[in-house]
Amino acid sequence: MIIKPMIRSNICINAHPVGCAKDTEHQIEYVKSQKAKRGVKTAKEGGYAPKTVLVLGCSTGYGLASRISAAFEYGADTIGVSFEKEPTETKSGTPGWYNNTAFDRAAKKDGLKSSTFNMDAFSDECRQTVIDEVKKWNAKFDLVVYSLASPVRVDPDTKVMYRSVIKTIGEPCTGPALDMMTGKISEMTAEPAVGDDVTNTVKVMGGEDWERWITQLKNAGVLAEGCRSVAYSYIGPTFTHAIYRDGTIGKAKKDLEERAHAINSVLAKNGGAAYVSVNKALVTRSSAVIPVIALYMSCLFKIMKEKGTHEGCIEQMERLFAERLYTADKKVAVDEEGRIRMDDLELDSQIQAQVNELMEKVSEENVNEITDIAGIRHDFLATNGFDVEGVDYEKDIARMDKID
Ligand code: NAD
Repeated sequence: MIIKPMIRSNICINAHPVGCAKDTEHQIEYVKSQKAKRGVKTAKEGGYAPKTVLVLGCSTGYGLASRISAAFEYGADTIGVSFEKEPTETKSGTPGWYNNTAFDRAAKKDGLKSSTFNMDAFSDECRQTVIDEVKKWNAKFDLVVYSLASPVRVDPDTKVMYRSVIKTIGEPCTGPALDMMTGKISEMTAEPAVGDDVTNTVKVMGGEDWERWITQLKNAGVLAEGCRSVAYSYIGPTFTHAIYRDGTIGKAKKDLEERAHAINSVLAKNGGAAYVSVNKALVTRSSAVIPVIALYMSCLFKIMKEKGTHEGCIEQMERLFAERLYTADKKVAVDEEGRIRMDDLELDSQIQAQVNELMEKVSEENVNEITDIAGIRHDFLATNGFDVEGVDYEKDIARMDKID
């Protein structure tokens, strides 16, 4: 069969198996070339590098890019957890399923251990599975990456299901929403949170689950001396704060950032540390659905590409590893609140001033000319395995549950 993207309101409901695999391979090639360029040495080569890494949310976006950097630049054995829809012979799975399959295949080829679990990472059953696996490997984690993005979470104690929402806190907020595929700009209003919206969103996207992971891994004795953990957050420019940083999701991120201090104290007892890394706004399966953000990204990418400072997920995570987590002097640069700032290039004042100018000028008539809508459209398609370089999209795909 020939597979074409099926898209509705910035959501793509199918994936291209070969395209997803190829996109994962491109990211692997990138970090391998960076390894050579930077002269990175793996632990086996005598370098300062993690040996065994756990990535929660390993299948797409920042988590996949983190796992690829850990394995293919730093030589780590990795355990990954994600929640994906498996394909059947005729029906598409979610992109992450194909990415994981491509990752495991490449790791095996390079002699790296990798185990990938398709499980609910919020469950204690999943935690036990990971603990059993790393014990089987006779290894301990020296890095735990927390990169989950989910609309729901079942509390492992009460079994209550919580839902996260993207809402403001206080006043409603109206802003432009860009349809990446058509270039249509409509006005969208984000309603203010009501009832338990805030606490529920914090329950799903805050730091409670991250803390539970670290506690249980520690109690099971599977954290190595000096083990570090990193979780991801976003802040963004002031004009997005009403919908993001000062809204329900921002509340959850602030909770994550606060809990990082408690997790840090636990890990510090063993010579380790916990960090929140504030990353750049990028097109992933989670971010594509946040209003205003798509239009902002199309302006941001335009300016950053012109300046030569644009990065995608893999460039961001490769830089996180090489220039923050595993530096020559073994020091991690952080801001006054202890956070790693990978959004430094995005929030550069000159960049933001130019983005503001563009945001004021942009309309449906000129969006194709003055912004990088083509770039974010490409990224959006590529996260689902479409529009990936080197893939013949006219070639018949015999089975949807294979990547070649
Ligand atoms: P993504 O949607 O690409 O990845 C989310 C991952 O979580 C996937 O691997 C998915 O399978 C996994 N997942 C979701 N629910 C799960 C569950 N119950 N059990 C196991 N795995 C589950 O998202 P992303 O944009 O890469 O986001 C990752 C982190 O980075 C989030 O904390 C997000 O807030 C943060 N972040 C994102 C951006 C951005 O612009 N995309 C910017 C800064 C920070």
